[in-house]
Amino acid sequence: MASLNDIRSTYLDFFRRNDHRVVDSSPLVPRNDPTLMFTNSGMVQFKNLFTGVETRDYKRATTAQKCVRAGGKHNDLDNVGYTARHHTFFEMLGNFSFGDYFKDQAIAFAWELLTKDFGLNKDKLLVTVYHTDDEAAGIWKKVAGLSDDRIIRIASDDNFWRMGPTGPCGPCTEIFYDHGDHIWGGPPGSANEDGDRFIEIWNNVFMQNEQFADGRLIPLEMQSIDTGMGLERIGALLQGKHDNYDTDLMRSLIEASAHATSNDPDGPGKVHHRVIADHLRSTSFLIADGVMPSNEGRGYVLRRIMRRAMRHAHMLGAQDPVMFKLVPALVRQMGAAYPELTRAQALIEETLRLEETKFRQTLDRGLKLLDDELAHIPEGADLPGGAAFKLYDTYGFPLDLTQDALREMGRAVDVAGFDAAMEEQKAKARASWSGAGGTAEAKVWFEIAEAKGTTEFLGYDTETAEGVV
Ligand code: ATP
Ligand code: MG
Ligand code: MG
Ligand code: MG
Repeated sequence: MASLNDIRSTYLDFFRRNDHRVVDSSPLVPRNDPTLMFTNSGMVQFKNLFTGVETRDYKRATTAQKCVRAGGKHNDLDNVGYTARHHTFFEMLGNFSFGDYFKDQAIAFAWELLTKDFGLNKDKLLVTVYHTDDEAAGIWKKVAGLSDDRIIRIASDDNFWRMGPTGPCGPCTEIFYDHGDHIWGGPPGSANEDGDRFIEIWNNVFMQNEQFADGRLIPLEMQSIDTGMGLERIGALLQGKHDNYDTDLMRSLIEASAHATSNDPDGPGKVHHRVIADHLRSTSFLIADGVMPSNEGRGYVLRRIMRRAMRHAHMLGAQDPVMFKLVPALVRQMGAAYPELTRAQALIEETLRLEETKFRQTLDRGLKLLDDELAHIPEGADLPGGAAFKLYDTYGFPLDLTQDALREMGRAVDVAGFDAAMEEQKAKARASWSGAGGTAEAKVWFEIAEAKGTTEFLGYDTETAEGVV
């Protein structure tokens, strides 16, 4: 059986053979790009090549890119543990053309790799195209011989790919695999498309536009190609599995989690192991790329992911910190492909150990408060915002951690109430600060901080957590 490490190599070798330069993954923190929190796709490091601002000595490239999707336009945090196909950290395999080949060659490469080198069954594959893209539909018919009902036209943004609010973008064609009617879910474009029956494995973007913040969408001078295929998704297929978490790599992390918590990997704690395995990868790779847990910006997103994993370890009955014990298993699996992980191993372990030790001091009490609160409100009602705010402010529970805990019980948080409590506290802080001196300057400072704060560019709430850290 080909391992994920083998499959990564097969992909890169295929495109190397077809005259692509093999380029290293870029770091998870994009260089000089304040519009993006974390690298969320393979094209990020090539952004300026598509727009023509920069040129290099190659026009074709291929990469296995580290990606994190835990915020901003692409946020899969809430899917993790629950869908068969989402991670917060994953590897995106990609091939790129910068003003070199375009639609017909990209589709021909994709079809050849999938059906010849990877040997997938053609009859299980179907594709989507942007609703106006007759050209792409025609190429699929010609190259792959797909019948019309296997070329689905989609009018939504799902088939017009964007990295974020600005930057190069364009219509795309996506390739799906049908895992069979014993699994719930409908084809793309149908009402139940979010099920796990039809799984998107590869997206080919026809880069031909640039989006500006003021709403303008202009045609680019060059026509380029940007593709992305999740290694874990194609890996699951090639290993005869339906679920990414059943691939060799993810499975070894799940087993490490089960071992460290003396639990059954497939028992009632299954979801916890999946979340832990996933969050272990995102937190470790973020630390290896220089992000440290903190109370704002990227560091706060890292802390949120960590704490979430730590609650899941706690739910498995772990009495002591767990996450740091799993790092060696991850390094064994991925250290050869990503040497930065091996180099940072000691730092990752120490950071996870310290964070988990600190968070455990309040986790028990916070969970108890949560139970008490729930006992006081009617069955099924939302947790009042004030209680969620207290968990955040006093016990260091990020809002999404509380939401994640409630989700297991089919309940939710009154988010508007939470925001109001947060606002109230900020107003109090403002009042006491301006009272302490230089009122006029203080007021201006707060106005600037709020207008220019990190909240906007990170795309979601990254307010400073007071209290326990
Ligand atoms: P989905 O619709 O399944 O959420 P997507 O359309 O958001 O996927 P793209 O932005 O097109 O994904 O990214 C290209 C490829 O990267 C996808 O076709 C998929 O194989 C992979 N991918 C995307 N998000 C994830 C994720 N969270 N975990 C694992 N693989 C992913
Ligand atoms: Mg998605
Ligand atoms: Mg999609
Ligand atoms: Mg897609």
